[in-house]
Amino acid sequence: MSIYENFGCKQVINASGKMTALGASSVDPSVAEAMGKAAMDYVDIAELMVQAGKVMAEVTGAEDGCPTSGAAGGIAISTAAVIAGTNLSLIERIPNTDGLRNEIIIQKGHSVHFGGSISQMIAIGGGKVVEVGQANHVERDHIAGAVTEKTAALLYVKSHHAVQKGMQSIETMIAISKEKGIPFIIDAAAEDDLKKYIAMGADIVIYSGGKAIEGPTSGFVCGRADLMAACRAQYKGVGRPMKVGKEAIVGLLTALTRYYDRPDESEEQRSRMEWLIEQFKDTPGVKGVIVQDEAGRAIYRANLSFDAKVIGKSAYEIIKELESGNPAIYTRNHYANLGIINVDPRPLLKGQEQIIAERIAQIITSGGNN
Ligand SMILES: *Cc1c(COP(=O)(O)O)cnc(C)c1O
Repeated sequence: MSIYENFGCKQVINASGKMTALGASSVDPSVAEAMGKAAMDYVDIAELMVQAGKVMAEVTGAEDGCPTSGAAGGIAISTAAVIAGTNLSLIERIPNTDGLRNEIIIQKGHSVHFGGSISQMIAIGGGKVVEVGQANHVERDHIAGAVTEKTAALLYVKSHHAVQKGMQSIETMIAISKEKGIPFIIDAAAEDDLKKYIAMGADIVIYSGGKAIEGPTSGFVCGRADLMAACRAQYKGVGRPMKVGKEAIVGLLTALTRYYDRPDESEEQRSRMEWLIEQFKDTPGVKGVIVQDEAGRAIYRANLSFDAKVIGKSAYEIIKELESGNPAIYTRNHYANLGIINVDPRPLLKGQEQIIAERIAQIITSGGNN
């Protein structure tokens, strides 16, 4: 029974990954418990924001940090912070920044859609987006040459959504930002290394709380102390409609506190996926193997290939039936055109691989429409 069924939503089994559209992460019970306690109590919010920054500093190696509603909110808040600083009159003007130093330089291949538009998040924070180079080719001079007295920051998007080839590196952008004396911001929303970009010299690093960190719907920025004070100050302005609640802050801090000593569940996950594959070893037209994550992380997915000629259904048809059932099952479908469906063990709750195995067996033995 899913709590969401109380409100008329179908139960969802997420075998896909950290998908915002499916609710991103399910938190550890210790995180949920902390959020419950936070929700039933009071705190001086300004004090909580400052103390949260100290935890974020500890975890990331940055000077300070600031909670946000998510990484998208983090982009808007960071942009507003580099433009308005802690000046209240400027803070209250955002997103109107006419006449101010408001340009945010971004490589064209980084001006992407993550589920929302990076450029729009910058614009909400009052930034004027200056895209440099071409979508598949940017030179150092494109970036350095675009810096003027109107430049407020350089922004880099570290993500599989961004173009990977032909862009200038983080190191190059940091070098330019140091040369020109302007802040370097990096959107590392889904990255799992919380120290790397601070150590490289980034002035602001943006993370999502609900992705690698497996916290609640939230996010944070970390970096230079003066810029973090400026980020916090934006909650008197453009940050207000992207307020992050006390429950979310406490949940995020609890997730961050346990980040480095979370139990490694990859072996258990792998054996659950081996069990899943085992269920189809005698099924004609189905072949299962364990496949490690393309990026080399310790994620072992069940890779099931379906022979449409034998089964009478394509992988697309199987996916459609999985998603339209109750519970609705969402798999990882990047290779569906090759007849392959992947099951990601990370978001699966206890025993859900059994429901998935039963449901797939039902679908492939039912021949036509089910
Ligand atoms: C997911 C994502 C975001 C938005 O993160 P939220 O925490 O959902 O607001 C921003 N940038 C990138 C690159 C992302 O992958």
